[in-house]
Amino acid sequence: MSTRSQQLFERAQQHIPGGVNSPVRAFRSVGGTPRFFAAGSGSRVIDVDGQSYLDYVGSWGPLILGHAHPEVVAAVQQAALKGLSFGAPTEGEVEMAELLCALMPSLEMVRLVSSGTEATMSAIRLARGFTGRDLLIKFEGCYHGHSDSLLVKAGSGMLTFGNPSSGGVPADFVRHTLVLDYNDSAGLAAAFAEHGPRIAAVIVEAVAGNMNLIAPRPEFLRSMRELCSRHGSVLIFDEVMTGFRVGPRGAQGLYGVTPDLTTLGKVIGGGMPVGAFGGRREIMARIAPLGPVYQAGTLSGNPVAVAAGLATLRLLQADGFYALLAQRSRQLTDGLAAAASKHGIAFSAQSIGGMFGLYFRSACPQSYAEVMECDTQAFSRFFHAMLDAGHYFAPSAFEAGFVSMAHSEADIAATLAAADAAFSAW
Ligand SMILES: *Cc1c(COP(=O)(O)O)cnc(C)c1O
Repeated sequence: MSTRSQQLFERAQQHIPGGVNSPVRAFRSVGGTPRFFAAGSGSRVIDVDGQSYLDYVGSWGPLILGHAHPEVVAAVQQAALKGLSFGAPTEGEVEMAELLCALMPSLEMVRLVSSGTEATMSAIRLARGFTGRDLLIKFEGCYHGHSDSLLVKAGSGMLTFGNPSSGGVPADFVRHTLVLDYNDSAGLAAAFAEHGPRIAAVIVEAVAGNMNLIAPRPEFLRSMRELCSRHGSVLIFDEVMTGFRVGPRGAQGLYGVTPDLTTLGKVIGGGMPVGAFGGRREIMARIAPLGPVYQAGTLSGNPVAVAAGLATLRLLQADGFYALLAQRSRQLTDGLAAAASKHGIAFSAQSIGGMFGLYFRSACPQSYAEVMECDTQAFSRFFHAMLDAGHYFAPSAFEAGFVSMAHSEADIAATLAAADAAFSAW
């Protein structure tokens, strides 16, 4: 007897490539059938077979308040009753822009878009338009959405230009993108020494969350800031994942480094499609209709999506929100590390605010090369044992995890008990 998820996945594959609308959902790296979800509430999701799971994916980051938070749902319902879209300005967009600029002091102006990909793509165009330069620096393992110039992996040697990491991206498009090692300040200094006057921008995940989780060395971010300022290059912090997830002012607040431009997404839409990019006024003033850098969107600043984002961002301002979120995340990562160590399993874990990394490796990685050393077979085993026990982790060894404010101490304790059972049967 096949499950409803299996039946739906069979059907899905007839008309949707791979049966999914975003590749990591397909369970390719861990094997098995993706669960189709029917509903979510607080810390839990329920699949179409009626199985309930404690959810540590949270829609890949947005659901910092948990699933279907009543105040967010009410805001969406009220907005929807007034109209789904106008293609004309609305009051909510002004409130959203004011709130984002108040929460993140590096933002003097912001523009709303509908996804993180749009935000980073537009921020890069803007940085190039502002500087009149073409070269972009990114770091291996950081993900900034799926636009052409960002789907690039390192070339064969230091300071060589990248190669496309996806079919369909002309090699010519990524000729302007230099791919360096994350946390390697010396490599960055060398790139600026060679190419400084041609570098339009450096884009970075100030906490890397798309190669599992890698914490930045503080001097890496500081030297990046210093080099960009000295060479007139635009520093872009891609905070699509970290924005309002690692702390009340994002990673830039946590590490005390101020970028020129910031990209946002995920949490700022509270589960609806909202992205944003913003920063210094003199740079933002180059966007159409004020300036020559073109950027637009039919559904940008959509009133229903913005209502969800505003309701979410307001709830994050509660006293002690981030302290409690960080404490819950740490309860999970400390507990998992203790359970693995008790059973002699090579494992490490860490959390930053409401995001965490789990590694089947004895110490937390600090680079892309180190994270690639994690034991992916051990991860798959852990993933399936936890899934069977009703605990839903990201279906890949190279994704960060997320804890929401809806996760109670008892939820985390239940997950730790399941992990202990999984590790003892190792
Ligand atoms: C998720 C993510 C993106 C892309 O956002 P989408 O909304 O999926 O297009 C870009 N940058 C980072 C750091 C992300 O985590």
